[in-house]
Amino acid sequence: MNPTNAGCDLLCICPHTDDAEIALGGTLALLARAGRKVWVCDLTRGELGSNGTPEERWREAAEASAHLGLTGRLQFELPDGFVDVGAPEQVATVAAVIRRLRPRWIATAPMPNRHPDHRAIGALVEKAAFMSRLAAWSPDLPAHRIWDGGALLPDPTDRWQTEAVLHVCLEGEQADVLFDVSSVWDKKLAALKAYATQFEAVGERRPTMINDPAFLEQVERWARARGFRAGVSHAEALRTSAAPLLSDLPQERWT
Ligand SMILES: [Zn+2]
Repeated sequence: MNPTNAGCDLLCICPHTDDAEIALGGTLALLARAGRKVWVCDLTRGELGSNGTPEERWREAAEASAHLGLTGRLQFELPDGFVDVGAPEQVATVAAVIRRLRPRWIATAPMPNRHPDHRAIGALVEKAAFMSRLAAWSPDLPAHRIWDGGALLPDPTDRWQTEAVLHVCLEGEQADVLFDVSSVWDKKLAALKAYATQFEAVGERRPTMINDPAFLEQVERWARARGFRAGVSHAEALRTSAAPLLSDLPQERWT
């Protein structure tokens, strides 16, 4: 569990394609641009989505991943709409991913107002992050597909301890960590634009909360509000129960 043995710097685990981009696309692009190894894991294929087939949504996710500069992206086949921390096979899926990718940090994006899977994801990821430490338990990596920006899926380890699980803040929630994403906001918008089936209400598509133009305006407002408080144009906010162990005062400005 030596951090120098990490297979990636940040692993963002979400229920559906587009969740990572909506909540954390700026941070993912920022870290990727800095040379960090950044992976996204979509736990379901989004088969219950109001618009877009799983195949269409996966193609869109691949395009979005390229805009963000991700190292790689995985998609599993957990049942859309039934993400559940009480399902051992779901905990096993997430723990198996953590064992393979060995992330130093994990992020997840609850946003519970939008979908029941978003209410469940935080607890599922927290439990799997803990269970991935236990060498006596060896979950197999289940069926998945992979978008590979050039990196191979690393070999598994028998146990892994991540530094912290970071949860994207809800509106008004106190942030523990802010990322200044002002310089990569265009990359986040390009990634979101890749999800035409989700955000463009044209033709036969069913109206949803997220293909109402007001939704993406709200995403922009959230980032501007976080940024305003920090004195930058756009920021993304996360919370965590962990604390950094410092050996000196940090260089970063605090807000
Ligand atoms: Zn979602």
